Amino acid sequence: MSSSKQVIDKTEKFGAHNYKPKEVVFAWGEGVMVKNPEGEEFYDMLSAYSALNFGHRHPEIIQAAKDQLDGVTLSSRAFYNNILGDFLEAICKLTGKTMALPMNTGAEAVETAIKTARRWGNFIKGVEDGKQEIIVCSENFHGRTTTIISFSTDEVAKKGYGPFTPGFVVVPYGDLAALEAAITPNTVGFLMEPIQGEAGVICPPEGFMKKAYAVCKKHNVLFIADEVQTGFARTGDIFACQHEGFEPDVYIFGKALGAGIMPISAVVANEDILSVFTPGSHGSTFGGNPLACAVAIKTMEIMQRDEFAKQAKEKGAYFMSKLNDMKAKNPKIIEVRGRGLLIGVEFNCDAAPYVKKLISSGVLAKETHETTIRFAPPIVITYEQIDDACAKIAKAFA
Ligand SMILES: *Cc1c(COP(=O)(O)O)cnc(C)c1O
Repeated sequence: MSSSKQVIDKTEKFGAHNYKPKEVVFAWGEGVMVKNPEGEEFYDMLSAYSALNFGHRHPEIIQAAKDQLDGVTLSSRAFYNNILGDFLEAICKLTGKTMALPMNTGAEAVETAIKTARRWGNFIKGVEDGKQEIIVCSENFHGRTTTIISFSTDEVAKKGYGPFTPGFVVVPYGDLAALEAAITPNTVGFLMEPIQGEAGVICPPEGFMKKAYAVCKKHNVLFIADEVQTGFARTGDIFACQHEGFEPDVYIFGKALGAGIMPISAVVANEDILSVFTPGSHGSTFGGNPLACAVAIKTMEIMQRDEFAKQAKEKGAYFMSKLNDMKAKNPKIIEVRGRGLLIGVEFNCDAAPYVKKLISSGVLAKETHETTIRFAPPIVITYEQIDDACAKIAKAFA
């Protein structure tokens, strides 16, 4: 096997430099643990941005994928396949909605939700086509397509990529008055992350989403929840919206739905909304492919059977209390925040040197927005593993 250095050199030589990865090479993974080509072990505390909620190579999900590899892997939507219907039924039952549209990546699902809101606005609400407006939040992260970066507030994500797609209005995250003030007769949707992951694990004020939903209802605006990172048990509920006991009009899912095995994403809503799509008006060659559907069905089954949301809630509280103990001893740590196993540790200084120390002591994490370190291990992490990892984290932070 190539050494870590050989792998890194080759990747940097032939790959476009749109990422600056930490210098750790994944050559094997199981559960929470990964190994590099030299056989050194690490705790994976990033979980591929929550795509690996159920751990690397969950044995039952891998088996479901293997079984499907022996059947059929792709039909395209020109034909039916014998498993897509089961996937759609399962995700509708899970959400309590009546219709779903499968795509592959999170960004594609966000694009689909934008199209949904614009068509719904035109066909149902009666907004003139071309005049639809969607309200989004400052510091949002919804993906990397040209339209999605058009409403990003991150200049690095936008520089040199113009012209941008119009039709978006940005309001401060968690600001109810600003949301209501931004609504016009042409507003068709309000798009938000229930917790902003990329922005540094930022939770809205308690009760904000429920109140924002009421504002949306009052003005006949769709509430669209981007649960690509928060969904599927990560935050201690199956969906982060459940924390406030409300259901958005439109859910966007991705990442963990495919258990780190296959990319699969979906937009889920009721028929009165998703029936705006007509044959030929939207699609994806790989969307709803049988292999991804088989993985996602097994993922949803296991998540519910093993009560992963409850596990994330309890393990997250335990992990967070240990991080708070570290905060009490370290004046450089100013806040420990988050929900379930989506945790941010805020420093009053550059966090990168701490990340470097974490990695050299066997804990993989990454800083976001310079001063925050995100801890989001696979939910299969055991209490013993949390204890062991926290001992390493405490040493690295000291
Ligand atoms: C990761 C992410 C996306 C984009 O998903 P991709 O699969 O990378 O396109 C969209 N929304 C949120 C909240 C995310 O965290």
